[in-house]
Amino acid sequence: MLIKKTIFALLFISFALFSRDYKKYSKSEFAMGTNLAVTFFSYDGKKNANKILAECFRLAGDLEKKVSCKNATSTIYKLNSVKKGDVSDDFTLELLKNSLYYAELTDGLFDPALYNVIELWGFESGENKIPEIKEILAALKSSGYKNVAIDGKTIVLSNGASLDLGGIAKGAIIGKIAEYLKSVGLKDFLINGGGDIVVGGLYAGQRKWRIAIANPFNQNETVGMVELTDCSVVTSGDYERYFISEDGIRYHHIIDPRTGTPANNGVHSATVIADSPVKADALSTALFVAGVKEGLELIKKTTGVKTIFISGNKEDFKLDYSDNISHTIRDGKYYFEVKE
Ligand code: ADP
Ligand code: MG
Repeated sequence: MLIKKTIFALLFISFALFSRDYKKYSKSEFAMGTNLAVTFFSYDGKKNANKILAECFRLAGDLEKKVSCKNATSTIYKLNSVKKGDVSDDFTLELLKNSLYYAELTDGLFDPALYNVIELWGFESGENKIPEIKEILAALKSSGYKNVAIDGKTIVLSNGASLDLGGIAKGAIIGKIAEYLKSVGLKDFLINGGGDIVVGGLYAGQRKWRIAIANPFNQNETVGMVELTDCSVVTSGDYERYFISEDGIRYHHIIDPRTGTPANNGVHSATVIADSPVKADALSTALFVAGVKEGLELIKKTTGVKTIFISGNKEDFKLDYSDNISHTIRDGKYYFEVKE
């Protein structure tokens, strides 16, 4: 009995020592126009971990500066003003190529050349205005991914079109942070850029990461969660950035490129789980615009994508998801499971 107890105590002590060494490090700060949080587990000491965390935020700031259409020194801002130019950095060029790829895949529901329309609504500037129909129609004429041509490193924007990569850039940036963490030998991490998430490995090296699915009707609540490893989860929702007009209508920041107005198909959030954050980000925006029926058809065009839609209203919300997801309900919360 004593031997058993001693063995148990020794095991417990060695486990405690072992797990104490594999520490959790975390930092959260405003970046990319949202709250960015980076968490990882590491055997490193605090000093080195803090250096790695600082580098993640430096990287986010640096990459955001390149692709933000608001930053007067960015490559995208310059392209928008002169309509033609060479892109010398690989990150921006790759992001532009990916943007066109996803625009084509989604038949333009994800559209990186909608800036002229988006600007009219004033979400970014905080002006929050409802544009006149004729303004929207005019802006639509000078919008659309078909006006973007990439030839080597040269980008040409025709018909006065301008770029806004807001629907895909965060995914690309958190993807780069994930690459950086892997390059310094870390494998158990979570990066969360305002609901755009990449997870690597396991929580504490022991169990899958638990990702909450937000309740679009109440941001302090979740509707459930999903356990994941080595993948990306991105949610586009109508609760992220919006304003409510005097007559009580909610206008949000995800625009249906077919109408130039906020997508209005009953969906309040579209979550995409995929193998890459760029894919998950572009497709979550496209699926939010597509709505449930069209969206579930759309993802059949690509592999490895899982999606959860939330529609309905606060009292009675409705969940729809792709065939590769199932759920159980415990204590009123949904536990989603992904099938490979
Ligand atoms: P969030 O930025 O809240 O995570 P999204 O990834 O869905 O949400 O991106 C929304 C942003 O993408 C908008 O703020 C705007 O800059 C841009 N955008 C809006 N509508 C579209 C669209 N149909 N296709 C591509 N980008 C869009
Ligand atoms: Mg997106």
